[in-house]
Amino acid sequence: MMRLLRHIGWLHACDDAGTVLDDAWIAVEGARIVALGREPCPIPAERVAESHDLSGCIVVPGLINLHHHFFQTLTRAVPATVRARPLDWLFGMYPLWAELDEEAHRWATLAAGAELLLTGATTSVDHSYLHPGDGDALLAAQAEAAAELGLRLHVVRGSMPTLEGDLARRLRPLLGDRMDRLLDPEDEIVPQLERAARRWHDDADGAMLRIGFGPTGVTYEKPALMRAVADRAAAFGCGLHTHLHPRPDEREKAERLLGTDPISFLDASGWLRPGTWFAHGSQLRPDEIRRLAEAGCGVAHCPRTIVRLGFPLTPIPAFRKAGLAVGVGVDGAASNDSGSMLGDLRLALLLHRVGTAADADTEKDWMRPADALAMATRNAAAILGRDDIGRIEPGKMADIAAFDLTGVAYAGAVTDPLGGLLMAGSDARASFVMCHGSVRVAGGRLVGMDERRVAAGTNAAARRMVAQATARTGLRFADAQ
Ligand SMILES: [Zn+2]
Repeated sequence: MMRLLRHIGWLHACDDAGTVLDDAWIAVEGARIVALGREPCPIPAERVAESHDLSGCIVVPGLINLHHHFFQTLTRAVPATVRARPLDWLFGMYPLWAELDEEAHRWATLAAGAELLLTGATTSVDHSYLHPGDGDALLAAQAEAAAELGLRLHVVRGSMPTLEGDLARRLRPLLGDRMDRLLDPEDEIVPQLERAARRWHDDADGAMLRIGFGPTGVTYEKPALMRAVADRAAAFGCGLHTHLHPRPDEREKAERLLGTDPISFLDASGWLRPGTWFAHGSQLRPDEIRRLAEAGCGVAHCPRTIVRLGFPLTPIPAFRKAGLAVGVGVDGAASNDSGSMLGDLRLALLLHRVGTAADADTEKDWMRPADALAMATRNAAAILGRDDIGRIEPGKMADIAAFDLTGVAYAGAVTDPLGGLLMAGSDARASFVMCHGSVRVAGGRLVGMDERRVAAGTNAAARRMVAQATARTGLRFADAQ
């Protein structure tokens, strides 16, 4: 029996032909799309189990979030870090994050995943690099929560071999032995990755859970580890992922420790290949952008983190000109106090334009709404090495998001509904979301899960972490910096 989506206002398939249909229908059987077309739908009623009316809605492939840290959902908008630069921001955050446990991680996954589903995402990466206590148990709690949500998940089983900059020296007086909860001993990291891949990685078509590998940042101090992680990822068929935005001090460190530059180090360590994608990619030189493109790597552009932490603008037009694949990531909720997939796609469409208006030719390189949508759907799927998601066409997984354009926030956007969705609108909430053929959002609400219960559970876990961290360190997280 089939399930039908009927009377779709506008359907953007993101297929190779760039199909856009108005007054359209989609037929789903099991977890896959089997047919689509313009109304009237010819499928006889006796073959239809259920039908959803999406008139007034724009329908797109379920959005794909390429970078996140779900656990950070527990530490949003902390006054002590609101005005901090990246290293000071991390200094304020690590004492809180050291309190993470399975219960908190489960709530964080539910909250982050629910927010993603409610804003149109059906697939998300979670760069899960912090594992205080039993990392295997944290991953198991997360896998269970993602299955409960019905969200397609790529967990990058990360690690923290070192702390950034001078943070180890600054944090040790505060945290003492609890520093061990933040850092992973080098000899344990590869076995951790192997256990995660063996237990959870599913490389089948339509997989709901895949595992990737990657420490929190490029670890110049431990070249053998970087090489081993890349080798094991290749052996297991897993993706590789880490943060990459080489600041001047990072370039200096690569030169001092290894006599090379960051990109050459990654190349020599086996990281420059398809299946590798980096978060941010800001502060790359033109020749480095070209090298990443030629190697088939991708970038997760996280526009709100750039704004929140004051990073230099990511040169998205330069990436696109060089053929470097780019998708969108919301990033962790400590550097994106939101976590809204549609919200950040809207920002990605606009942010790269900042500061370029004086150049008469530059606007030709600005993205259009269709470019931004491709980034978050078909291009992101390719970066993850998947051809089963990111498009609405027969044979692909039924990952579909619908947004209601009948509200006043979209009124007047009659010439281009997709432009209306991405350039107008004050609400990022999806009206209807299907993932793997299962309805996860209907009427703008989660199906089978109480959003208020998820928020309340997450708040309770977050309050407990703040109270414990305050008791241990004396830090007052609610005080404005
Ligand atoms: Zn990040």
